[in-house]
Amino acid sequence: MTSAVRIGISRSRPEARSEMPLVGPLVDRYGRVHDDLRLSVTDRCNLRCVYCMPTEGMTFLPRAEVLSFEEIVRVAGVARSLGVRSVRITGGEPLVRRNICDLIGRIAALGFGDVALTTNGILLAALAEDLASAGLRRVNVSCDSLRPGRFSAIRRRGELDVVLGAMAAAEAAGLTPLKVNVVLLRGQNDDEIADFADFARQTGRVVRFIEYMPLDAEGHWDRDQLVPGHEVFERINARWPLQAMADPSDPAPADRFRFADGQGEIGLISTVTEPFCGTCNRLRLTADGAIRNCLFSDAEHSVRDVMRAGGTDEDLARTIREAVWGKLPGHGINEPGFLRPVRSMSMIGG
Ligand code: SAM
Ligand code: SF4
Repeated sequence: MTSAVRIGISRSRPEARSEMPLVGPLVDRYGRVHDDLRLSVTDRCNLRCVYCMPTEGMTFLPRAEVLSFEEIVRVAGVARSLGVRSVRITGGEPLVRRNICDLIGRIAALGFGDVALTTNGILLAALAEDLASAGLRRVNVSCDSLRPGRFSAIRRRGELDVVLGAMAAAEAAGLTPLKVNVVLLRGQNDDEIADFADFARQTGRVVRFIEYMPLDAEGHWDRDQLVPGHEVFERINARWPLQAMADPSDPAPADRFRFADGQGEIGLISTVTEPFCGTCNRLRLTADGAIRNCLFSDAEHSVRDVMRAGGTDEDLARTIREAVWGKLPGHGINEPGFLRPVRSMSMIGG
């Protein structure tokens, strides 16, 4: 076990509340307060990572279905008024959305405590300073291999050097602490666990090892391909002893560990093998304006439809509340009968 604090609860947890409050924090039937919003600004991407999108044939949303900046800012503002404190901009690849710095400036002006972004890094170096000036606080950069050939094989497009350069540019622009997302795939990059741990130690960047989830568009996911967080922990800990940092009440999905000698930090995102559903505080807005309460649930509430039908901010607030209220107690991946969601990761917003 990497941590005693992750709570995997079944979909049928009993003690649910019955009445949805219309004031106060955004809460679900099980009392989980939702104050973290993942905002997907596009389903498009300039890469085709093997665990996310097919090389060819991905169908993207027609432009008319994608929320405008005005619509995104309006929903973010309503979420802010409902107690959401942090926003992460994502996609698809958020930096391929034109004028993204303008959007980030408008979101930052809403007064969130934290505005962050997850990116593949390909376009980041050129935008880092403008993003920071617009009010972005920090970035997570995805990078699944430190070997150039393998990096390009896993991400199918793009080059490692560009992404490493982007990390440096982001740090120079003050977008820190910089986190590096690594999706581990058995037999493809799990021999680089120690290299990434060393990278974290040498650079001070927080490397987060993510379990492969059943969210690839091609439907190829299979449990044997994921590398469990506890294995990553054991392999690193054997070489460089680790100390747990996580606060049991911290809803962040990563179990955080510092190296016992004080040189750096890693995170383990063990969504499949050690679900953190019991403390989940997240809601999501897809690029086409659906509020989703879980990556793995197909239940969606369209705020785009509400807005385009002339709905008020009160109507939007109610729609967001209903979306959160309907959240199941757990994602159910490890239960018999689990069905993977219809939309894949890049269509939902990771
Ligand atoms: N395009 C950006 C990027 O790659 O960082 C942001 C969006 S991407 C969907 C967000 C994160 O989800 C990335 O760190 C990516 O590696 C991760 N991801 C994508 N598909 C995944 C999967 N099937 N399982 C686990 N993580 C996945
Ligand atoms: Fe694009 Fe990110 Fe998906 Fe890779 S993980 S294909 S970079 S959206």
